[in-house]
Amino acid sequence: MANLKVDVSDLNKSFGDNHVLKGIDFKVANNEVVVLIGPSGSGKSTLLRCLNRLEDPTSGKVSIDGEDISNTKTNIDHARENIGMVFQHFNLFNNLTVGENIELAPVELGKLSKEDAASQAKKLLETVGLEDKYDAKPQSLSGGQKQRVAIARALAMNPDIMLFDEPTSALDPEMVGDVLEVMKKLAKEGMTMVVVTHEMGFAKEMADRVVFMADGVVVEEGKPEDVFDHPQNERTKSFLDKVI
Ligand code: ADP
Ligand code: MG
Repeated sequence: MANLKVDVSDLNKSFGDNHVLKGIDFKVANNEVVVLIGPSGSGKSTLLRCLNRLEDPTSGKVSIDGEDISNTKTNIDHARENIGMVFQHFNLFNNLTVGENIELAPVELGKLSKEDAASQAKKLLETVGLEDKYDAKPQSLSGGQKQRVAIARALAMNPDIMLFDEPTSALDPEMVGDVLEVMKKLAKEGMTMVVVTHEMGFAKEMADRVVFMADGVVVEEGKPEDVFDHPQNERTKSFLDKVI
């Protein structure tokens, strides 16, 4: 595959004697939306965290945009600037306003002036449907609104790939739709995305490819209609029977 945004080969990760990722090959093309599914404990979060070296691989290679980020000589801070990450729990700074949360990284890292960061924050808040929350404190927001601020904050560094780790799992059901809408908008704009989610509707509608992981290996992958309607592997079948 040419133009690979993410190129993971033979990735292994152990925590002590817990061998969590067992020889993962995982590629993501530019502008591709990949949805990663699988049972709890299968290693989905660990794989995502290896992509920006929040976890150090035990062995194997992780390249982002052709740059080997498992190489300790690579400037990981620079590589991370291009990788946005959104977690299940939003981790907003509660002592800062919404606007300040979004402006913090680009200003601290010298990417934007305060004024430019502020006008960008306002634009990003429009993108996520929260233009009236610029001066709000995070604790005044609902979970779904906080998560949309977290997405805006990740976008503030102008990343060219976004990683989402169960972004809607901690939300009340009525909040899920608004967050998924923002993610759909990003996908339609051509953002390269890796999304761990149990929202199979999102996967069916937006994924270019679905990857099913179990027990630290990629068991099966393909177009959503193939994986969901004609799973080839018994483990995929039994997982889908439980979640769909
Ligand atoms: P998933 O996201 O698919 O639920 P995880 O990647 O979170 O799976 O976890 C896979 C395995 O790795 C689990 O057995 C988990 O306990 C273990 N694990 C994950 N992170 C750590 C860590 N920081 N230290 C020790 N074990 C971990
Ligand atoms: Mg996880």
